[in-house]
Amino acid sequence: MKAQEQFHRDTWVEVDLDAIEHNIEQISQVIGPKVGIMAVVKANAYGHGYVQIAKTALSSGATHLAVAFIDEALFLRKQGIQAPIVVLGASRPSDAELAARQSIRLTIYSKEWLQQAETYLTKDATLLVHLKCDTGMGRLGIKTAQELKEIEKLVHDIEAISIEGIYTHFATADELDRSYTDRQMDTFTTLVAELKEKPPLVHASNSAAALFRQDSLLSIIRFGISMYGLSPSSEIADRLPAKLIPALSLHTTIVQVKKLKRGEKVSYGATYEAAEEEWIATLPIGYADGWIRKMQGFEVLVDGIRVPLVGRICMDQCMIRLPDEYSPGTRVTLIGRQGKSEIKIEEIADYLDTINYEVACAISARVPRIYWKEKKSVSVLNALM
Ligand SMILES: *Cc1c(COP(=O)(O)O)cnc(C)c1O
Repeated sequence: MKAQEQFHRDTWVEVDLDAIEHNIEQISQVIGPKVGIMAVVKANAYGHGYVQIAKTALSSGATHLAVAFIDEALFLRKQGIQAPIVVLGASRPSDAELAARQSIRLTIYSKEWLQQAETYLTKDATLLVHLKCDTGMGRLGIKTAQELKEIEKLVHDIEAISIEGIYTHFATADELDRSYTDRQMDTFTTLVAELKEKPPLVHASNSAAALFRQDSLLSIIRFGISMYGLSPSSEIADRLPAKLIPALSLHTTIVQVKKLKRGEKVSYGATYEAAEEEWIATLPIGYADGWIRKMQGFEVLVDGIRVPLVGRICMDQCMIRLPDEYSPGTRVTLIGRQGKSEIKIEEIADYLDTINYEVACAISARVPRIYWKEKKSVSVLNALM
């Protein structure tokens, strides 16, 4: 079956799996062969699709996967993925046994958590944990050497728990000024040195640190945004030591074209008025797809040229003004390339006053994803089936 026949709506995301592979190869060259790669596939792989990205990352050299919540890890297990998965966010202590049985690694961030989790564990399975240190992010984590040592001792006494890793997370690794990350790194090094036994995995780097900070690579990096071909921030975008290829593009199709007379209006609130005779086309994508209302006034690509979105964005549809008559069925690109033109996710992020991460994550599950490999579509993700 052709990719487009596996859904019935003319709006879709294309994900280039070769780009994912390429980006992993690029980071491997930057970090060298001694450092491992944990592919961060939380939030539906930053909007790209959990399973296909997880599989591609693993076949491209990643040894571990990371997600934010235990449900995401369970979903990957249900889809047959057996690689080690680390849950980076908080889990319920009552889920410790479930995680242990599924070989899902949990993050430990307090002594209380550990004491509670212990009561749920049986001897049937060992829970592997990663100790999270808060060295300046002010989010999840152990702050003091005292607590860290107590946790290590406690784990030592619990047969069903074993420490696989210790890690921290940087707040400003995507900024040119290195001083805050330097301090976090120092704090982390000091904390790690407090442990009696060094865990197999010591990790700190997100994409930005992996790209820019050799000193923070340690045993493994947590590779998120740049695996998808995106820069961790605009501040460092033109200094990247790797050539990244964005994997995601977003497309739709004109479903109707009409000629409006001068003075006729478009969309809710009738806020847009045709200044003269105008060609207006309707697109089957709206804010429920993640194409949010603030996109009003931005541009999309039709026939390689930029045309404006006019009137309010609706839940499922929006309108554009064409320079000429085009027929229904004409492809419209909202993110990505068309001929020589390109709309980058970063341009949209700037327009929305946010970051590329948020734009990618916002593309909702309702939009089908088509996966490409070697210039051929290889699979489809349709969350509605
Ligand atoms: C999301 C996340 C990452 C990945 O960060 P990127 O900037 O996308 O590379 C790494 N570590 C933690 C703890 C995270 O929550």
